[in-house]
Amino acid sequence: PERGRFGPLVGSIDEGTSSTRFLVFAAKTAEVLTYHQVSIPHITPKEGWVEQDPEVILHSVIETINVTCDNLIKLDISPEDIVATGITNQRETTVVWDSVTGKPLHNALVWLDMRTASTVDQILQNGKRNKNFLKNVCGLPVSTYFSALKIRWLIDNVEGVRRAISEDRCLFGTIDTWLIWNLTGGVNGGLHLTDVTNASRTMLMNIDTLKWDPQLCKIFDIPMSILPEIKSSSEIYGYISESVLKGIPISGVSDQQAALVGQMCFHQGQAKSTYGTGCFLLYNTGTAIVQSSHGLLTTVAYQLGKDAPPIYALEGSIAIAGVAMQWLRDNLGVIKNVTESMDIAQSTGEVGEVYFVPAFSGLYAPYWRKDARSVICGLTEETKPGHIVRGALESVAFQVRDILEAMALDCGYPLQKLLVDGGMTANNFLMQIQADYCGIPVVRPLMSETTSLGAAMAAGNAKGVEVWDLDNVQPVPSDCFIPSITEDQRDIRYSRWKMAIARSLDWVE
Ligand code: ADP
Repeated sequence: PERGRFGPLVGSIDEGTSSTRFLVFAAKTAEVLTYHQVSIPHITPKEGWVEQDPEVILHSVIETINVTCDNLIKLDISPEDIVATGITNQRETTVVWDSVTGKPLHNALVWLDMRTASTVDQILQNGKRNKNFLKNVCGLPVSTYFSALKIRWLIDNVEGVRRAISEDRCLFGTIDTWLIWNLTGGVNGGLHLTDVTNASRTMLMNIDTLKWDPQLCKIFDIPMSILPEIKSSSEIYGYISESVLKGIPISGVSDQQAALVGQMCFHQGQAKSTYGTGCFLLYNTGTAIVQSSHGLLTTVAYQLGKDAPPIYALEGSIAIAGVAMQWLRDNLGVIKNVTESMDIAQSTGEVGEVYFVPAFSGLYAPYWRKDARSVICGLTEETKPGHIVRGALESVAFQVRDILEAMALDCGYPLQKLLVDGGMTANNFLMQIQADYCGIPVVRPLMSETTSLGAAMAAGNAKGVEVWDLDNVQPVPSDCFIPSITEDQRDIRYSRWKMAIARSLDWVE
């Protein structure tokens, strides 16, 4: 193919919880030229345990790169025009591997995994410590969600991990780190690196200094020697050693927070919500570290360059969003595919008043209760599968409202509009009820891959690559969903949701 048809191209490896994608963007127009996607199976050895095979993840990345580059050739575009690649990844998911053999020492513990419930109790000394006792240092409550708990569990329960640590062969990483190490050479000199946004989700990084915190490592009893070096979200990390992309720099790394960049939420007070496996609402607080008093996390939004100031965010995390659709499909069999959820939910007509709290991983923000249990309330003789599907979609919209209420309390004023992205935003029914239940417009970009776009922008903008000028980006075209119910209707439904939540929280007691 002819070189330079679309100018410089930037790749984006998007390794999500449900699937891996590799997308190629034209740096000049931010247009996606092509992509390939492979789904990643979850392994669930026990109730509440969720694992993935790190080697399957790695191979899926290589496969998506290969197929995407073949696609480019078919489109008469030269893969040699790719000048850099970014990585955006599922967060908190924890991998430990042997630096000598390059083999994982255990399956990856996926962020959703609940096996660390007893580790949480251990760290909290069975209730003697408050779950927020480290929040001032790392911005996070002690929860099964974060990597430090997962590393602690692996050390406590896997003999091979303890041995590798004692022999100085154990490396820890979130998925970005695992991929970078392998793509830059693996056992032959792979680089052991992560970025500030991923590091901010481990519970081991000091949110102020952006360095691993010896005190935190001591509390979790995790040796600092297994931790990767922390870099900014936009700089050259290293060069890909093999594959069609050999020699190309990895120069943008960010997790979920990349969508803030992709949605161009560069200003304090802007917020976006990404609806994928889980749903994550991030609110840009600028250079200020805002500590929430209402159950939100303090996290690093991005740091665009080694010498650039870190930008912080408040985050509301919802564990179960799109994955509830997979559950309805795979466990209940009430939908054949996730796309069908929209029509089935809509076909219930006027609301069936079924409230579904899917607390499969306990409840995250703003509750942070690992002991919450799922409940479905309001069933009648007339209830049909569609009502349950609708209840599952509504649970996402209600949980986003829970978070917006917490954000308004922390920030002092309510959000005026909500920018959205992620796989689940293809569901127009969900978008409409989201606007209805929050009472603000929901703005959806026509190009929903804004997380991948954010990683590509960070990669293309990095010093030494410089093909993407962030000062001159055009906002992506979008459509908008306007609230269509009255305030009274909104409040009645929301108060019933809160009653369902109360049941979910009280179940065990
Ligand atoms: P991740 O990045 O977490 O892997 P994605 O952004 O790719 O997630 O979104 C995939 C998730 O969105 C899946 O859990 C899937 O069930 C859900 N999803 C995709 N399309 C729809 C749809 N039309 N309606 C409802 N849920 C959907």
